[in-house]
Amino acid sequence: MPSDASPPKKRLLIRTWGCQMNVYDSARMADVLAPLGYAPTELPEEADMVILNTCHIREKASEKVFSDLGRLRGVKEEKAARGERMILAVAGCVAQAEGAEITARAPYVDIVLGPQTYHRLPEMVARVSRAAGAVIETDFPAEDKFDHLPETAAPSGPIAFLTVQEGCDKFCSFCVVPYTRGAEFSRPAAQVLAEARRLVAGGAREIALLGQNVNAYHGAGPDGREWGLGWLLREVAAIPGLARLRYTTSHPRDMDEDLIAAHGELPQLMPFLHLPVQSGSDRMLQAMNRGHKAADFHRVVEKLRAARPDIALSSDFIAGHPGESDADHAATLALIREVGFAQAFSFKYSARPGTPAAGAGPQVPEAVKDARLAEIQALLRDQQEAFNRSRAGAVMEVLCTGPARHPGQMAGRSPWLQPVHFDGPAQLAGQIVPVRITAGHPNSLAAEWLGGAAKAPPSHQEIRAA
Ligand code: SF4
Repeated sequence: MPSDASPPKKRLLIRTWGCQMNVYDSARMADVLAPLGYAPTELPEEADMVILNTCHIREKASEKVFSDLGRLRGVKEEKAARGERMILAVAGCVAQAEGAEITARAPYVDIVLGPQTYHRLPEMVARVSRAAGAVIETDFPAEDKFDHLPETAAPSGPIAFLTVQEGCDKFCSFCVVPYTRGAEFSRPAAQVLAEARRLVAGGAREIALLGQNVNAYHGAGPDGREWGLGWLLREVAAIPGLARLRYTTSHPRDMDEDLIAAHGELPQLMPFLHLPVQSGSDRMLQAMNRGHKAADFHRVVEKLRAARPDIALSSDFIAGHPGESDADHAATLALIREVGFAQAFSFKYSARPGTPAAGAGPQVPEAVKDARLAEIQALLRDQQEAFNRSRAGAVMEVLCTGPARHPGQMAGRSPWLQPVHFDGPAQLAGQIVPVRITAGHPNSLAAEWLGGAAKAPPSHQEIRAA
């Protein structure tokens, strides 16, 4: 039974769009609100608070937010008619970029908060409870939000995410991140290591270090020096019980020698890297303000493959950036063929208001963008399928994440981040297990569990003693 001092039980629904950093932010918002009595729900009808954690990267992102808000308005009004209160909040990058428009078009929204202010959520909730009118917090406060957040709750599975860096100073022509997330900021290394130890103690076997520009990490080290990402990875990899380590998203310009060397040194660092290049044309890379040429990207890939021969790459590509010619597009296809990708994301260019490319010319006609994107995607799909098929017959370790859709079947992740399905008992969840790949499919691998050799997660004592 709750004591008299316990806050009253309330329900919190968070809907998340976009990247892993938003997933991480949503989890931290739940951590911040838990002491106020908010427990998670999936149902808007029973929610006392709904947060839409938005992403501004994709096309029509804000329209999707407004249509979701319209639906939630109905639920909020029904609850109000029953004398119940629902606090409606919009967070994330759409909130940061379009805060004023949100409150103008959807005056029933109570809170608009940018990614740098969610540690202030309890105070915002209190202000909303006291007064009418929306609370808007989209500034970039001087205090470090990470200093004001509670400790992370235990991870919900064996894979955990940990934000180490935020924001970006690179101002690529097409990207809103420098405007919505602010200047580059790295968390102090000691803070990152403490959070990583807690995640491992809570059951995480794999940690992905996150940042909009994660390999620009330059956090203050406990030794008084500035640590780069390579050094941080070495220290996180040394945490007993942590089996796997990844980091995302990286910029080719920030792949320094020390970071590349870490790929050769650390068995925990998985042989898979997402390294967005966006285009294979030097003219387009310059128009995009990427600060490197195609040859620089090739050089980085060569060095990574020399350090870690089994490394596989993923990337991002934009089709039809303003000014892109047929020759530029052909250069992108050539780069994809030369490098070879295990996986990749590709998008049609779409203008983001306020970014330099939005007003740049000439804009590429939609039909041309569609045709170029189709060509890029066909090539990438072939490469992904070929990579997955090439795994057939291989014996590898898979991190089992839990039951799959079919009864008796378990799901996991290969070192190359491919989804893997195999028959096995439910107790394998959270364990790293040996499997033999029986077939490579376009988007996943089928495997047979080789039995045994499951490694027990470390005890708290072992981690504390480390
Ligand atoms: S480096 Fe990445 S986050 Fe920064 S502006 Fe370019 S695309 Fe956006």
